[in-house]
Amino acid sequence: MLALFFFLFGSAMGSFLNVVIYRLPIGKSLIKPPSHCPLCGKNIRWFDNIPIISYIILKGECRDCDAPIPIRYFVVESITALIYLYSYIRFGISLELLTFLTFITLLIPIFFIDLTEMSIPDTLSISGIIIGLILGVFRGIIRISLIGAVVGAIYVLIVIYAGKAIYKKNVMGFGDIKLSAMIGAFVGWANFLLTILISSLLGSIYGIIQIKRGKSSMKSIIPYGPFLAIGGFITFLFGKWIILKFFLA
Ligand SMILES: [Zn+2]
Repeated sequence: MLALFFFLFGSAMGSFLNVVIYRLPIGKSLIKPPSHCPLCGKNIRWFDNIPIISYIILKGECRDCDAPIPIRYFVVESITALIYLYSYIRFGISLELLTFLTFITLLIPIFFIDLTEMSIPDTLSISGIIIGLILGVFRGIIRISLIGAVVGAIYVLIVIYAGKAIYKKNVMGFGDIKLSAMIGAFVGWANFLLTILISSLLGSIYGIIQIKRGKSSMKSIIPYGPFLAIGGFITFLFGKWIILKFFLA
């Protein structure tokens, strides 16, 4: 029963996160007006606004004007629902569950906004740092959490200045400083170091694939935030296991 609840709760949250992803970067209110089709302006009927299912029933098109609904809506609702379900199975009703759900609910919109807008809203990252630290107090790991946030910020600052000195360009954005600090606050400093490793690895693989496909060159700028977000997600769940298995064995 509770597992089903968390799946449905996650899908509803995913539906809300879609609104955040669409409206936050353009400075629109998250509450008003109600969801409507950007092409024909008609309000979305309540029965067409059911997470995951409506997208399938409507075959990804507006009921009124057949404008395509971005696949992102379906993807965000589905992955949020699945992650919420997995979190409940993994952590049970606990403080770690609350912490991880908060973390992921911030990471998902950051991932998609940075991917398309190449920027990370402070509303998400700065409140994430504060919430991460407060939860750190209750989790009894405030020192690890605080050092994590500081290490996160310093790491990106160093990369930015080194990048400027060597490549004469911004290799990372200033939004990444706040995102790194937020991830550090949630996962702690040791896991944050692992996050750097994972996200650089993923970023490099992605970069090489893009160059091979002729879609970008060594000079192209790709947002680093999405890779940091994936790295933070992986380390929160598996960091301890990875460190014990591969680094302290
Ligand atoms: Zn429409």
